Amino acid sequence: TEGVAAVGEWLRECAREFDERLEELNELDRVLGDGDHGTNMRRGFAAAESLDLTEASRAFEALRQVGMALVSNVGGASGPLFGTFLLRAGANWPPTPTTAGIAVAVREGLRGVVARGKAEPGDKTMVDALTPATESLEASARENEPLGEALEKAADAAERGRDATAGMVARRGRAHLRAAESVGVLDPGAVSMSIILRTAAQHIS
Ligand code: ADP
Ligand code: MG
Ligand code: MG
Repeated sequence: TEGVAAVGEWLRECAREFDERLEELNELDRVLGDGDHGTNMRRGFAAAESLDLTEASRAFEALRQVGMALVSNVGGASGPLFGTFLLRAGANWPPTPTTAGIAVAVREGLRGVVARGKAEPGDKTMVDALTPATESLEASARENEPLGEALEKAADAAERGRDATAGMVARRGRAHLRAAESVGVLDPGAVSMSIILRTAAQHIS
């Protein structure tokens, strides 16, 4: 599928995943923060259920609607950050999906997250999943790899980044208040970012 239908299906798949993985994400956040990360993601992505997927709509419009819901309806640190990611990626979404075009959109999304949250790689946040995924997409763009393959590799890179957060000490958000206990536990926001990128690989090509 292309255009808004593909993006809409991607966002709806995210909504289904966040619904299914509510407890897993809340549990990770129970160790590191206040136990609401799954609830926050499910609330934000619920907006995907009412998306208009007709041709009159646009991919950026679908990303804008879900991004706005995350920014406005989710009272946690992560809602505005994931919302900014979708809004900025959406504002830079290519008219026809290509590896180079999606690499630019994702890089802009990452820039937005960092401008807002100031996290650096290694701080044990969603940035630790998004940064390697962005770099992987950019490498794929340089090699002219087909989009489907590029997104698969980007999702793999995000998952490796997610797994690496287990060894990190939290330096941002609520989790930094439990820096010592945070070692050995995956960062829930990095898990959510991996979900977003894995589902992208399944729906965008
Ligand atoms: P809250 O901490 O407000 O309850 P959530 O539990 O929904 O919000 O989200 C926590 C997640 O947000 C963390 O796992 C981390 O990945 C992400 N996060 C927190 N602060 C930042 C930041 N400054 N930059 C990037 N990501 C952050
Ligand atoms: Mg929380
Ligand atoms: Mg909270």
